[in-house]
Amino acid sequence: MDTHRNWYHNPLNLVVAFIVLMVLAAPHPIAAFTRSEAVHFQRSIIDYRSRLNPRYKKIKRPKTKYIIVHTAELGLKTTLRVVSRGKRFRNGRRTNGGHAHYVIARNGRTYRILDRKYEADHAGRSMWNGDTDLSAVSIGIELVGYHYAPITEAQYRSVGILIEILQGVYALDDRAVLTHSQVAYGLPNRWHPKNHRGRKRCAKNFNRTKARLGPTWRYDPDVRARRLVADAQLAAVYYSPKQYVAEAQEANVISKRNTAWVIAGEDFDSSTTVYKFPNGRVYTGDQIAAQVGWNRLPAKTVVLLNQEERVERLRDDGPVKTIADGVTAWSLAGRSYNHKTTIYFLPSGRIKTGSMIHDWDDLPVKTRLIVGYKGPFELRKDQSAYRIAGKGYKDPRTIYYLPSKQLVRGHKIKDFTQLQLGTLVFLPTAS
Ligand SMILES: [Zn+2]
Repeated sequence: MDTHRNWYHNPLNLVVAFIVLMVLAAPHPIAAFTRSEAVHFQRSIIDYRSRLNPRYKKIKRPKTKYIIVHTAELGLKTTLRVVSRGKRFRNGRRTNGGHAHYVIARNGRTYRILDRKYEADHAGRSMWNGDTDLSAVSIGIELVGYHYAPITEAQYRSVGILIEILQGVYALDDRAVLTHSQVAYGLPNRWHPKNHRGRKRCAKNFNRTKARLGPTWRYDPDVRARRLVADAQLAAVYYSPKQYVAEAQEANVISKRNTAWVIAGEDFDSSTTVYKFPNGRVYTGDQIAAQVGWNRLPAKTVVLLNQEERVERLRDDGPVKTIADGVTAWSLAGRSYNHKTTIYFLPSGRIKTGSMIHDWDDLPVKTRLIVGYKGPFELRKDQSAYRIAGKGYKDPRTIYYLPSKQLVRGHKIKDFTQLQLGTLVFLPTAS
């Protein structure tokens, strides 16, 4: 009997202690997802590699040091096309695609765009801890959505599992996971006289905790080493000692604090950035300097990024708006997209209020919408337009949905006696 022997005299106990120490000292945190979750996720990835632009030159990446998260600033359909086939610019210039390794849709579904062994053209002018051209040493993950709109829980789950799998493959810790806005940098411009952060705003709303990532950089290593100048707003997002709540940030609307630079970064004067003024006028970023002046952007101007289509489609033609390729319900209605006073007219003829909409990316192209409305009120024998709308029955803001599925504004209707019964009337909620 040797009951007074210490625990460490038993060789088995020593082995156990050694294993416990190894686990605690390991560079990776304990897995946040189970093995079966990872296997199931991997099987569910949709292989989109065959859609890659054949002109994209595949180059094997010798080293992988980072995982970079982006927000696409677009809906699903356009994101998949742009990352696979390339971007189109209004001057005819095109890129060759290959702009991400993975795309994660709003419902969490994940697409493989390019084999992860190749370089993707996703980070542009970038720097982290002295490394430059991060596309050559990183994986790029694109989240469908906007940097000023919430990322979905389903996306956080998928991106969390995907990151964990990739961290295992490339032996990366949580500090290797960064967002595009964190690593992009710009050359001197009208806002900054030196090389600087703030070129991109991409994924600044990415909440690491929701992706089950652990602690990260408390400072920007390139700003600390004076290679770059900080961007005040991004520094507040990423390095403020107070936990900055990313979701509470302003949307894509110009105000004193929310300048074109804060919303669009280096894309502020791009031909693919569109400015919708409160008076309905539409300008592209490259027109502002000459036609308006950067100091004269009116408050409440809406800023849309990555608009490759003709701007005429975005011109504000009254309260009825239409979802198009690259124009989502979020870019038209913002936070109101799922309010009950936002009313959607689907191409099928169904009418839904925003509170019936699961996510803005689920709505088909050609869906029309009106924001800030109540109804429908049905025209019946005993219920005329005047009974429904009062003096506002001829108002341009009163909307009539005809049985032919046409949406007509009150002032466009010539003869109210000719309106068919069953026509639905929608009235603005704000007086
Ligand atoms: Zn990006």
